[in-house]
Amino acid sequence: MRSISIFGATGSIGEQTVDLLERAGGADSYRVVALTGGRNVTRLAEMARALRAEVAVCAEASELPELRERLAGSGIEAAAGPEAIAEAADRPADWVMSSIVGAAGLAPGFRALRHGATLALANKESLVTAGPLLMAEAARHGARILPVDSEHSAIFQALVGEDIAAVERIILTASGGALRNWPLEALAKATVKEALAHPNWAMGQRITIDSASMFNKALEVIETREFFGVAPDQVEVIIHPESLIHSMVGYRDGAVMAHMGAPDMRHSIGYALNWPDRAHLPVARLDLAQIATLTFRAPDLERYPALRLAREVMARRGLSGAAFNAAKEVALDHFLAGGIGFMQMAEVVERVLAALDGELSRDIGQMTLEDVQAMDHLARVRAGEIAGVVAGAR
Ligand code: NDP
Ligand code: MG
Repeated sequence: MRSISIFGATGSIGEQTVDLLERAGGADSYRVVALTGGRNVTRLAEMARALRAEVAVCAEASELPELRERLAGSGIEAAAGPEAIAEAADRPADWVMSSIVGAAGLAPGFRALRHGATLALANKESLVTAGPLLMAEAARHGARILPVDSEHSAIFQALVGEDIAAVERIILTASGGALRNWPLEALAKATVKEALAHPNWAMGQRITIDSASMFNKALEVIETREFFGVAPDQVEVIIHPESLIHSMVGYRDGAVMAHMGAPDMRHSIGYALNWPDRAHLPVARLDLAQIATLTFRAPDLERYPALRLAREVMARRGLSGAAFNAAKEVALDHFLAGGIGFMQMAEVVERVLAALDGELSRDIGQMTLEDVQAMDHLARVRAGEIAGVVAGAR
C-alpha cells in the first residue's frame, strides 16, 4: 500500500488532494502517514480521522489542546509548531504533497526529499527561493519532484517523451486575474475584495490576489526556469483569459504542444498522484464546440511590474528569489491589512530588492538552506520598514 503525507492538508490544494484520496478509497487504499494544517484544527482532526492518519500536526501551538481533544480516542498522534511539522516530514512516505502556502513550506519539502519521497510540489515558493538547492537535494537522494502548479504540470506533460534540448521556448498562460479588464489608472484603488474575485480558478486567498497582480505569474516564471533548467529568455507569458490552455512548449521545429483542460487543480494533483499512469479523474471534460474561441494577448509590463521584477530575479539568481518572495509576502500582508494600495505591492518589492542589492548575488554553489532562510528573514524586516514608509506617503 502506498504511503502518503500531506503538508498543508487544510488548504485549497490540500483539500483537493484529500478529495482525490477519498474518491480512490481513502484509508483502504493508502496508508496516510502525516497530515498538517495551520490553524484549522477542526478540519485537520476530521480529515485525520477519516483517512486514519498516523499523526496530525498544526502549525499554531496554541491550537494543540484543541487538536488533542478532537483526536481523543482515535490513536492518532497530535503535535504542533514548525519543528513538529518538519519532523513529520522525516517520517518516510512514498508520496508527499507540499502544499503549505509561503516560505513555511520550504523545510518540510527538503526533509521529505531526504528519505527519497516523490514530492508533489504545489509550494512554488520552494523553487523560487531555493530552486538550485531543492533540485540538488532531490538528485542527491534519488528523489523525484513532480510539479503540481497547473502550468508546470502542463509543461511537464507536454515534455513527455521529448528531449529538453529540443525546446525553444516555454509559454506560460495567465488568466490575468480579477482586475484584468480594469483601466490601468483604476488599479491603484483596487480593494482586497475586488482583487479576490477571480474569474476562473477557486484558490486560496493569497494566491488569488497574487494572480490579480501577476506576482503569481512572476513566481511561476522563476519556478519554470528553476524546475526545467531553461534559460530565462526561453520563458514567455501570454494572457489567455479562458484558462483552458494551461501552458505550452515550443520546440525547435516550430511545433507548439499545448496542454488543455478544465481549470480544476484536481487534474494536476491527480496527474502527480498517479504518475506515470493516468487515472480516471473527476474533472469536467471540455466541450470545444461550446467554447468555440480561445483568445490571447500580450501582458502589459506597466500593468504588471511583477513580471519585469521576475526577469531581474532570474538574471541574478543567488538569493534574489528568496528576497523577492519574502518581500512579496510582506507587501501582500500590508495590502490585505489595508496599509498599502494594490500597485504599491510591486513598489515595496522593487525597493526591497534595491535596498538589499549588495547581498543578493550569492554564488549558488555556496548557498545553503540557512542562507535562504536568513535572506527570507532580512527581506521581511526590510519589506516591513519600506511598506511602512510607502503607507505613510499614501
Ligand atoms: P491555502 O491558503 O488555501 O492553504 C495553505 C495551507 O497551508 C493550509 O493548510 C494552511 O493551514 C497551511 N499553513 C498556512 N500557514 C502555515 C504555516 N505558517 N505553517 C504551516 N502551515 C501553514 O493555500 P493554497 O492551497 O491555495 O496554496 C498552497 C500552495 O500551493 C501555495 O504555495 C500556492 O502558491 C500553491 N498553489 C496553489 C494553487 C491553488 O489552486 N490553490 C494552484 C497552484 C499552486 P490552515 O488553513 O489550517 O491555517
Ligand atoms: Mg499556477
